Amino acid sequence: MAFENMSEKQAAAKASDLRKQLNKWADEYYTFDAPSVEDSVYDQTYQQLVDLENQFPQIVTADSPTQKVGDHTLPGFTKVSHEIPMLSLGDVFSKEELAEFVNRLSENDSVAFDYNCELKIDGLAINLRYENGLFVQGSTRGNGQIGEDITRNLKTIKSIPQKLSRPINIEVRGECYMPKESFAKLNDQRQLNGEEPFANPRNAAAGSLRQLDPRVTRSRHLSTFMYNVADIDDLQSDTQSGMLEELKALGFTINSDYKVAHNMTDIDDYVDQYKDLRDGLPYGIDGIVIKVNSLPLQRSLGATVKVPRWAIAYKFPPEEVQTVVRDIEWTV
Ligand code: NAD
Repeated sequence: MAFENMSEKQAAAKASDLRKQLNKWADEYYTFDAPSVEDSVYDQTYQQLVDLENQFPQIVTADSPTQKVGDHTLPGFTKVSHEIPMLSLGDVFSKEELAEFVNRLSENDSVAFDYNCELKIDGLAINLRYENGLFVQGSTRGNGQIGEDITRNLKTIKSIPQKLSRPINIEVRGECYMPKESFAKLNDQRQLNGEEPFANPRNAAAGSLRQLDPRVTRSRHLSTFMYNVADIDDLQSDTQSGMLEELKALGFTINSDYKVAHNMTDIDDYVDQYKDLRDGLPYGIDGIVIKVNSLPLQRSLGATVKVPRWAIAYKFPPEEVQTVVRDIEWTV
């Protein structure tokens, strides 16, 4: 969107309005797991703010949604500090923008490198900490620096190993999600009970994980796919795809539908393949994540305050959102 006819004062006022609106939606989404608008509406408004701030860099504020991850944590949960921040992902909505991202990275490097293509699981990010191979603490991403301690709830999820195959210290990151079947059953049950159904599996998973009673979490049949570690020095592999296999060997559930792409054609094929397969998968995906496969290269590319420079999410067009609902038992 072009804002060239605006003065700096008008731009600052418009940005302030957009931030207020986005912060309100973010609060509904992250804090209460109850969005009042579809993700695509949030994404388009966010993009307006990005365009405006790109055109008037002097109006960027440190607390702008473009400069921070997620939102507040809930009272009732102990806070966990993430020594290594949990970031979000930059996103693109067209193949042209995706090719621009790949070309930009390739320009900076004379040697061709591979990408690992992964499914973008529609859940919420979790961090699992192991000491001597034993699961000791699990948390949400929160604002990226501070999350919520949800260890007791995560212990009810079968796909999370309590003990790893090796007695190592490691923090593993990934996505907790609600399978489509569990989501359908849960919403049927809620309707029978006269309760409002959840808006989508992502919000159902988030609401189910942030429960004060772990028995409620257990009854919701959540699952996980792990895809990252806080510190790559804790690994033996030096590629993203190798990391996934190493996590699997340690006992984690990974999503095995990943593919190493050697060029843009491979990436395009992967995107097309999963656009078609998406509806038939037993869990929700809202896009594809493309990551530089070399872990040393990931490290040298680094990150902004909000997103890694070595990965991008290609978001699929939106699916229907059914209803908006709150599931905040801790306030009653
Ligand atoms: P995001 O969900 O767009 O992408 C980042 C997240 O993707 C990561 O944190 C991780 O949890 C997840 N992910 C899933 N599979 C992954 C994989 N294979 N590899 C790496 N990460 C993977 O970003 P976000 O910051 O979590 O949330 C922003 C998005 O949330 C917005 O784009 C919008 O769609 C939605 N949102 C909606 C509202 C609303 O009111 N509807 C409000 C705020 C945010």
